Amino acid sequence: MKKDIRSLSLKDLCSFFESNNYPAFRGNQVYNWLWNKSCFSFDQMTNISLELREVLKKDFVINHIKIDNIQKSSDGTIKNAVTLFDNLLVESVLIPVKNRTTACISSQVGCSLDCEFCATSQLKRMRNLNPDEIFDQASTINIQSKLYYNRPISNIVFMGMGEPLLNYKNLILGIDKITSKEGLGISPKRITVSTSGISKLIIKMADNNVKFNLAVSLHSAIEETRNKIMPFSKKFPLDELLDAVKYWYKKTRKIVTYEYIVWKEINDDMNHISALVQFCKASPSKVNLIEYNKTENPFFIAADDKIISNYISELEKNRIPVTIRKSRGKDIDAACGQLANKLLN
Ligand code: SAH
Repeated sequence: MKKDIRSLSLKDLCSFFESNNYPAFRGNQVYNWLWNKSCFSFDQMTNISLELREVLKKDFVINHIKIDNIQKSSDGTIKNAVTLFDNLLVESVLIPVKNRTTACISSQVGCSLDCEFCATSQLKRMRNLNPDEIFDQASTINIQSKLYYNRPISNIVFMGMGEPLLNYKNLILGIDKITSKEGLGISPKRITVSTSGISKLIIKMADNNVKFNLAVSLHSAIEETRNKIMPFSKKFPLDELLDAVKYWYKKTRKIVTYEYIVWKEINDDMNHISALVQFCKASPSKVNLIEYNKTENPFFIAADDKIISNYISELEKNRIPVTIRKSRGKDIDAACGQLANKLLN
């Protein structure tokens, strides 16, 4: 299989040319085509000789993602079904909010975790996305944002398909490209990686001194409940998760966001509220209450507004910042937990 030329660094490219007896600056030219001009065909690299283009074609391919289908929601959200070089599909979403645009990006094809309330968990994990596929989603949405909303993307959240931390290496490489000058030049402060709570990898991220933000999908601070709704979490007990979050804060000084959905008869009682407050008090944190988006699992029903208000008042009483995240793009199944390649069915 030929290598994707975009997996080469500038240095790698220059050495490739040198070792084939061409001047090293050709590396800069090709790099410029690939990263500054988003060029996805060797034939469009017009300042590279025909002969040299053939040399490149012999050894390399450019596996750029392709948009297979675009759906636009009445609230302005745009969902892209994206085809990968091996014909697998992922989804990525453009979310316009006031004068900002957030890109919601996938990290894996399908997901290996088993959160019962999430539509993506119904698709088994097929493979990890490579760094370029991660970058391409952001850059595609950036182009769309300029086209439809006259502005570049301002924020990126890894809340699409998959568990980003289980694709750690490629996630970091993809983010490096997104934040680099020749990529999109987006500050890591505007990027949030959301994890279902893989404690040991939160520790690894803290050790690697990453600069982006961390969100943890908590949904319950009571072990028994969490194990029921997110069965994989038996392997990642809450005390270990809390230790990891404490370590994250100690190393990065960044406040974690807990994502939390409130469901009828699952976590809508005072015990769950108190447990969340205690959990949040243990290390600096804020809470994002997410509106539940219905999936096919009848077991999960969004709690009444009254309960949400109870959560908010208890958190606020304890000086824990809390926000409500209204769902976007529901009419096209583009909201959190609804990404399941529906248009395929
Ligand atoms: N695997 C990572 C990232 C993808 S999910 C994680 O779990 O964090 C992004 C967010 O959507 C998570 O907080 C997840 O818990 C939430 N989510 C999943 N299903 C949902 C649903 N049906 N409605 C609302 N949010 C959901």
